[in-house]
Amino acid sequence: MSKKAMIQFTNFTFQYDAQAEATLKNINLSIFEGEKILIIGASGSGKSTLVKCLNGSIPQIDPGTWSGSVNVNGKELGKTSVYDFSFEAGTVIQDTDAQFVGMTVAEDMAFSLENDEIEQSVMVKSVNKWAEKVEVAHLLKEKPQNLSGGQKQRVSIAGVLIDKTPILLFDEPLASLDPAAGKESIALIDELHRQTGVTVLIIEHRLEDVLYREVDRIILMSEGQIVADEKPDSLLKSDLLEKYGIREPLYI
Ligand code: ADP
Ligand code: MG
Repeated sequence: MSKKAMIQFTNFTFQYDAQAEATLKNINLSIFEGEKILIIGASGSGKSTLVKCLNGSIPQIDPGTWSGSVNVNGKELGKTSVYDFSFEAGTVIQDTDAQFVGMTVAEDMAFSLENDEIEQSVMVKSVNKWAEKVEVAHLLKEKPQNLSGGQKQRVSIAGVLIDKTPILLFDEPLASLDPAAGKESIALIDELHRQTGVTVLIIEHRLEDVLYREVDRIILMSEGQIVADEKPDSLLKSDLLEKYGIREPLYI
């Protein structure tokens, strides 16, 4: 694996304006190109906050003060707009219709390419290619609102990958999916990760569902700090999951 750091947190502490204390405390974390990382931790431990630092949500949408630095493929938190971060890290939506911008699935997938003023014939080819990869080719003329949760997620993933965005961010991607759809979703993420070499971050508390496919490392958070950053095998063998109130996997 290449050792280029795609994401680098250095002594990073962040406090929301609306909070009396820091939510992230002295985070040091490197994530390398092509890695697939699972982030776990109790509710309120700062997982979503960590990921919001990678797409400009923090500080542009959720303001606060910070020290240290966050660098996303060369772009620095505090000096980069949400739009400019969108070329580095794409956030895959939950089951929320609000984020769909196209009248049809095809239009939605093409949206970022239209923004970049790509030629029509190239755009159609890209849309078809990615629709096939995420298995929504038969749905291109549908309204995004009419899709199932799993299908919406696939369209959202395609919309990020079609623009060659190097980092994919998932915040609880299984939340609105039943067990079968959740498994399919994890399998698809795994295949796309292998095929494209995209760097993947998944926040998910359904540990045994995510670990149905391989991940490179698990980051365990507690009260705004990283308390473990280990390969799955060694973390699962340790007593850390019990210690920090994370459910032990049912098998493994
Ligand atoms: P997790 O994703 O691990 O459940 P979060 O990062 O969402 O945790 O939240 C961590 C802490 O930050 C919580 O105490 C939460 O109340 C606080 N927090 C999250 N978002 C905001 C916000 N937009 N403004 C102020 N406080 C927030
Ligand atoms: Mg969260």
